[in-house]
Amino acid sequence: MLYPSPSLMAVPKQKQSHSRTTKRRSQHKAATAGYNSCPTCHSPRLPHRVCKTCGHYGGREVVHVHDHDHDHD
Ligand SMILES: [Zn+2]
Repeated sequence: MLYPSPSLMAVPKQKQSHSRTTKRRSQHKAATAGYNSCPTCHSPRLPHRVCKTCGHYGGREVVHVHDHDHDHD
């Protein structure tokens, strides 16, 4: 494997300072997870999670969602 001559490569002229490196890295953060809609019931649901509304994941019911059959009063 042949590499181009170092004289032809773009090379930084100055070493980047630690301050500049840390200032750039201070902006690095995990992105907040967005909501998707459930393909089965179309209610808002986090991606890669079982839907709390209908209990479906991957096109099948994996959790049985119980309806309340008792009163709260
Ligand atoms: Zn659902």
